[in-house]
Amino acid sequence: MDGQRALPPTLAPARLDHLRRGISGTGPLQQTLLPFTGEPLTELPTSTADDLDAAADRARAAQAGWAEMPTRERAAVGLRLQELILDRSGALLDVIQAETGKARGHAFTELLEVALLTRFLGLVTPATLAPRSLPGALPIFTQVRQHRTPVGLVGLISPWNYPFSLGVGDGLAALLAGNALLHKPDSQTVLTALLGRELIIEAGLPADLWQIVVGPGGEVGPAVIDRSDQVIFTGSTATGRQVAERAARRMIKTSLELGGKNPMIIRADADLDRAVPGAVAACFSSAGQLCESIERIYVHRAVAADFTRRFAAVTDRLVVGTGFGDDYDIGSLTSAGQLAKVDDHVTDAVALGARVLSGGRPVPEAGPYCYRPTVLTDVPSTARCYREETFGPVVAITPVESDDEAVALAADSEYGLNASIWSADARAARALAARLPSGKININDGFAAAYGSVHASIGGWGRSGGGHRHGREALLSVTRVQTVARQVGVPTGEFGPFRGLSYRRLMSDVLRAVRILPGR
Ligand code: NAP
Repeated sequence: MDGQRALPPTLAPARLDHLRRGISGTGPLQQTLLPFTGEPLTELPTSTADDLDAAADRARAAQAGWAEMPTRERAAVGLRLQELILDRSGALLDVIQAETGKARGHAFTELLEVALLTRFLGLVTPATLAPRSLPGALPIFTQVRQHRTPVGLVGLISPWNYPFSLGVGDGLAALLAGNALLHKPDSQTVLTALLGRELIIEAGLPADLWQIVVGPGGEVGPAVIDRSDQVIFTGSTATGRQVAERAARRMIKTSLELGGKNPMIIRADADLDRAVPGAVAACFSSAGQLCESIERIYVHRAVAADFTRRFAAVTDRLVVGTGFGDDYDIGSLTSAGQLAKVDDHVTDAVALGARVLSGGRPVPEAGPYCYRPTVLTDVPSTARCYREETFGPVVAITPVESDDEAVALAADSEYGLNASIWSADARAARALAARLPSGKININDGFAAAYGSVHASIGGWGRSGGGHRHGREALLSVTRVQTVARQVGVPTGEFGPFRGLSYRRLMSDVLRAVRILPGR
């Protein structure tokens, strides 16, 4: 291994041994690879059915006491975690890069998001989960309190592309809400989850509350669902459907964050000095292995030639490479399978008439799974990448004549995860946003503005799922609602002399009278 690709001391064998002890697993070893070189990174024990049973039992036993703890004390764990993430950012970036192959700068965006989220959740958890007094059926005579109780054991199944963000970030809301976690990270990115768990334990989380299990998704995934009270899943739409079906058998709730085919609209009045670098970041961050990634650009004819020329030129200059330093703009794809899929999509589109304006080929000299950021145009509707998610550094540019045409093309997808609009006219951009069937819309930004706004809940539309990430909803979604209504003085039905017609008249008068009260 050459210098930049050599494993840093944070991933020394003794350190990896220590991390591995966080796995609830006694089964056969499973290997992971270092995408920078394609060589083995480490071996991890997998989880047997007995391991899964024991992990679920430990988590449930710990959850009982955790749920009884005052929410302020639980939330304090989140507040302490932010500082630990910032302090240990070097080790976190090393492990994220080692498992995903992404460039260091792209790995850092994961830390930023989780660091923002820990603080937000730490601050809002107590008030969000506090019991609320609500108006009752009969003013004064019905007293209503609504309580939020944790669901118990939350199953978390997370993917490899943003392992810290989608593992630790999503798990944290469930934990602070008073639940325990049975977590199956993607087989390639277990170490990132283990390091995240180690940090949150250091921040004060009782260790048994977060159990990490390992093994092939098709076996361990269903086993996690079968032992959980609710499931948070992020991954492909195809697997999401299987997860939803499995969860439905036991009638447990699911939160599904699935695939996308995200469009960007460049209006004629867009500031191209900002739109060009913004589009490059939106298309090629984490080598396009980002669920929010833009794979379709619809640009107004008036600026199409200028935008396309500048966008392709900046893309041409991107430096692709592998290593733990800051020397590269774009890192590696994570696996040989990803590389094959990206290459297939481009080869298929070109064979059907698409033109390559930049990239369009693997770069084995940069790393075994590296692929040049690729700009296509004239992609026919028969090409696979026209509708299917590529999940790689490939974008298709299509000139359009009007906003209406841009909206029609952007909306012509079964997915609805993220969309981006560039325009100098805020009102026109907001009006366009209202017409797009997407859970997130970024105006004059590609994806980070909405994703980084952790106060706002996000989730996909259509085949992109419909989860509850970020915002207070992330906490509320992993709780059960319990409404306790206490009736005092008079009963809710007919009473005393108020029976039949006189009861109906009384209640009609009461309904009219309570209109003077706020919110009634
Ligand atoms: P995937 O194949 O669906 O895998 C995701 C996770 O599910 C992995 O941990 C996997 O385990 C596990 N799994 C596999 N089969 C399973 C089964 N039958 N039951 C339960 N779990 C199972 O996803 P991917 O292709 O690796 O990830 C990329 C996809 O995720 C893309 O479509 C991307 O858009 C989407 N994604 C969406 C978001 C979002 O927020 N909407 C964010 C990130 C990624 P193993 O891999 O260990 O087998």
